[in-house]
Amino acid sequence: MKSPGDDFTEDIALLQKLKDRGLSRRDFMKFCAAMAATLALPASFAGKIAEAVEKAKRPSLVWLEFQDCAGNTEALLRATKPTITELVLDILSIDYHETIMAPAGHQAEKSLEDVVNNQKGKYIAVVEGSIPMADNGVYCCIGGKSAIEIARKVCGNAMATIAVGTCAAFGGLPAAKPNPTGAVSVKEAVPGITLLNLPGCPANVENITATIVHFLTFGKLPATDELGRPYFAHGKRIHDNCERRAHFDAGQFVRAWGDEGHRKGWCLYEMGCKGPEAFYNCPTVKYNAGTSWPVQAGHGCIACAVPNFWDTMTPFYKRLPNVPGFGVENTADKIGAGVAGVVAAGIAAHRIARAVKGKDESKDK
Ligand code: SF4
Repeated sequence: MKSPGDDFTEDIALLQKLKDRGLSRRDFMKFCAAMAATLALPASFAGKIAEAVEKAKRPSLVWLEFQDCAGNTEALLRATKPTITELVLDILSIDYHETIMAPAGHQAEKSLEDVVNNQKGKYIAVVEGSIPMADNGVYCCIGGKSAIEIARKVCGNAMATIAVGTCAAFGGLPAAKPNPTGAVSVKEAVPGITLLNLPGCPANVENITATIVHFLTFGKLPATDELGRPYFAHGKRIHDNCERRAHFDAGQFVRAWGDEGHRKGWCLYEMGCKGPEAFYNCPTVKYNAGTSWPVQAGHGCIACAVPNFWDTMTPFYKRLPNVPGFGVENTADKIGAGVAGVVAAGIAAHRIARAVKGKDESKDK
């Protein structure tokens, strides 16, 4: 029977590669357990992941960069040191990545052409950055070809495409008003392909790894929401998993950078935190090998994985006019009446706290 990794062209199993890098069986199993947790699977799935990864062959991957800041590439390179996640990414057969590959010029272009021509339907394409459509795509050209031309050819022939970062997933900063280059997402530029959106500014590298592990284990991309984002990473609201949530519910808010509340780790809602509107696994997976995430570090969430966040979530330091999602949350089949009650209590506490402080809410507005 065909197993998920059979379509990949490399003939060296991943586990052997990991062993060659000095990885112990124990570390490998810990990695599989962590991937099961990131993918929001029961712990018992660690064995299935281990079995699949042991047998899988090195996936061939090409990474395209268009209108971007290379932030996702930076995340890929710097996220972990040295962890198994890094090893797994390291052992992917990354056949083309302009920023990190050794070849340049015609040699580099040949590497890309070789993958597209010789591995049609067998490679994974990762796209970072938006694609400019205005004026025949002249605003982003590589090797004499426009981004749209490259994306259509490379993504159109891939087994699957991952749009990594908010620019590739939704247009991001280049598409913010007035969008002078006509920047669009991968989905808009190359409709109809097998695509997963992994937004974020940058996307969390743990989610990139988990997506690839899911692909190796189940032979398909993870289930997604209506925005094409995987549920495992975007199924839960930041506000509901935030370690400052108890302070929100208690009406304890930071009111100025560096004030007593800020030093004590209180809620950042009044400082513009968009956590109540953002669905992402930042609070549980965190960044830099699980060290921290923006809210833990003292900065509010800017909802960077939300479409058009540069236009709709700014100014970043102005608080949301209301805690959104009330109508959504009180549907029992989605999150549960309990959460709605907690949010209601939070709002009430918030108002009480403001009243006690003698602040006139209308002034904020
Ligand atoms: S408003 Fe922001 S800081 Fe406060 S609990 Fe929600 S996500 Fe956390």
